Amino acid sequence: DGVIWLDGKMVPWREAKVHVLTHTLHYGLGVFEGVRAYSTVNHGTSIFRLQEHTDRLFRSAHILAMDIPYSKEELNEAQLAVVRENKLEEAYLRPMCFYGSEGMGLRADNLKTHVMVASWDWPSYMDPEAKEVGIKIRTSSYTRHHVNITMCKAKANGNYINSILALREALESGCDEALLLDNEGYVAEGSGENFFMVRNGIIYTPELTSCLEGITRDTIFHLAAEHGYEIREKRLTRDEVYVADEAFFTGTAAEVLPIRELDGRQIGSGRRGPITEVLQAAYFDAVQGRNKG
Ligand code: PLP
Repeated sequence: DGVIWLDGKMVPWREAKVHVLTHTLHYGLGVFEGVRAYSTVNHGTSIFRLQEHTDRLFRSAHILAMDIPYSKEELNEAQLAVVRENKLEEAYLRPMCFYGSEGMGLRADNLKTHVMVASWDWPSYMDPEAKEVGIKIRTSSYTRHHVNITMCKAKANGNYINSILALREALESGCDEALLLDNEGYVAEGSGENFFMVRNGIIYTPELTSCLEGITRDTIFHLAAEHGYEIREKRLTRDEVYVADEAFFTGTAAEVLPIRELDGRQIGSGRRGPITEVLQAAYFDAVQGRNKG
């Protein structure tokens, strides 16, 4: 039930369909966002960092040479309208730009870009207990592959094949998430999260060369500065993670998620570390409008 914004109109959920010859379904070229609306302390429901998500959607489309036939203001309004019309208090939003069924073949320069925004109630991505005790992860046999690295600033549909396979592999081996390395063997990110670790009071995270420019990652930079923690961006190796005091993932869906184990090695105390706890609490305050974030 509910409505989905599709090409400028609100369409009933069940009628928001595409044809089997949808270009993006065949070749995977499309861009999307994962956005979240939270119920806030003062002003009802609010979409967290809406403008930054819309800006990244436009940057992703620009990288893949897709023209979005709407303005940023129109897509901001579409996202607000979808949450409002579906009467959602807390919601996950999925804007996506895709090529339709107007043409097949790899020549994509003359295709029309369709845009949709769907939204649904998806309060907890992980078991709520995981936010306290942390998750178990494994190094993936899948890497952030080449195109995927050279174009990692795009949140693009086709970039998720290795993420899906990595997550599946992790779940099949009894873990909760995967840690993907880049082609040179340095830590890149999770299947849909940025990675952070703490050692001797300093926070480390991979540079933006092999991971998505996460909006939650950026929020953590602001919150860490507010709390007087130093963050260093650097190439990280697996063994640095094994001997870290703390580690956590960040993402719109995962929020701030402690990591207690990598490849069967306990990290730090084997539960949420103190700096992770401070940043996690600050993040929940920010999304709920208790501080600016
Ligand atoms: N890395 C990947 C591959 C992702 O898909 C996501 C999710 O959007 C992230 C990191 C985290 O980004 P954000 O914090 O903007 O949700």
